[in-house]
Amino acid sequence: MSLNQFYGHEPGELAALDRTCLWHPFTQMAEYEPLVIVAGEGNYLVDAAGRRYLDGCASLWCNLHGHRRAELDRAVAEQLGRIAHSTLLGLSSPPAVELARRLVDLSPGDLNHAFFSDDGSTAVEAAIKIALQYHQQKPTPEPERTLYLSLANAYHGDTVGSVSVGGIDLFHAKYRPLLFQVGHVPTPWCYRCPLGLDREKCGLACADEMDRAVDAQAGQLAAFIIEPLVQGAAGMITQPEGYLRRVRAACDRAGCLMIADEVATGFGRTGSMFACEQEAVVPDLMCLAKGITGGYLPLAATLAREEVYAAFLGKRAERRTFFHGHTYTGNALAAAAGVASLEIFSAERVIENLPAKIERLGFALEKLRDRPHVGDIRRRGLMVGIELVADRASKREYAYAEAIGDRVCAAVRKRGLILRPLGDVIVLMPPLSITPEEIDFLVRATGEAIGEVTE
Ligand SMILES: *Cc1c(COP(=O)(O)O)cnc(C)c1O
Repeated sequence: MSLNQFYGHEPGELAALDRTCLWHPFTQMAEYEPLVIVAGEGNYLVDAAGRRYLDGCASLWCNLHGHRRAELDRAVAEQLGRIAHSTLLGLSSPPAVELARRLVDLSPGDLNHAFFSDDGSTAVEAAIKIALQYHQQKPTPEPERTLYLSLANAYHGDTVGSVSVGGIDLFHAKYRPLLFQVGHVPTPWCYRCPLGLDREKCGLACADEMDRAVDAQAGQLAAFIIEPLVQGAAGMITQPEGYLRRVRAACDRAGCLMIADEVATGFGRTGSMFACEQEAVVPDLMCLAKGITGGYLPLAATLAREEVYAAFLGKRAERRTFFHGHTYTGNALAAAAGVASLEIFSAERVIENLPAKIERLGFALEKLRDRPHVGDIRRRGLMVGIELVADRASKREYAYAEAIGDRVCAAVRKRGLILRPLGDVIVLMPPLSITPEEIDFLVRATGEAIGEVTE
């Protein structure tokens, strides 16, 4: 049997089957309108009717170099000609070794060991467990260190451990009976400061609050987990300069590990390869996923510093092993895509070419500032959140039922652009390969759609 691209179905039939058989993530299925993507070309997606859309959310924050990149296609195809998958539990593979070597080289400080898994959530789960076990097994054990701290409004994934360290009520509150206790410190969020202060005069009071929370539990803390520089799913909340350094200092004082969740910020999104670099911070554990394969295949890594890794070494009988691992961990096709993606970074000087794009994006966005319902525009590198408000003076939010973000994203779709909002925040997160002309289109189409829906 030959399977054509629609598996023998008419496009309309495909959409109907989608509604009946497929349960989509983070989607209200009772209101869902299918849009079936059949192909990708560079920074564009193509639907079943042949319409093209700029992929303005990088296929949910993971695509880096565009779709159908010849180098990535070839790397996966060549690996497919050898083997698709064999286990990393006790065996190895060239792409997994090479990707680990390159990640260790690229990452800051002595993050010298890569533990692979499949998704951002699993990279976080592994980090949480490694931190707990580390304190039990380090040279001077402190098994009483069992507590975790994270930021209010944090997002670290959807599995139960990563939800426990999360703090977005809409996503997380219903699962509270399943979760372990985690302390939250105030979100460093200048537009809606939880302390009611003004950035001009606050002296980074939120970091003082964070210090107090860490110091109050210093001896019991296993780890502090943070999305460095930008709290993505919270609404692209950008942190004030110096905050991340203060978290590193607090963790050092308390003797707990610092986990940097770079799942969203990693691989150039904020303008540097990793967000931590911008504050010269070396975390003890670093979680990577989303962009790690250039957006091709699911893969994740938890990088560990030398001292953390060393606590897991010993004779078999000592049971220091990290007893954790998923079936498809470090999959060979995904790792091959990961190596090829890092090759593109160096061959095309991707990071070096970002400042011009970032500047152009910043310039274009300035034109949206005066729109009457644009409350705040937050940006770090190529990560952008445009927060829409019902009233600008009071920063009053739209009612949830108004679904203002969804409506703006429906309006950009008619203009040939795919975006996905976070509540009332319109997110722009294009592939790093976006061109200057595409940047202008991205912002222009977004501005028009905001005008159409809100004015
Ligand atoms: C997306 C995301 C995750 C979860 O990654 P998945 O691959 O969806 O499991 C974790 N942390 C952050 C910061 C993210 O943005």
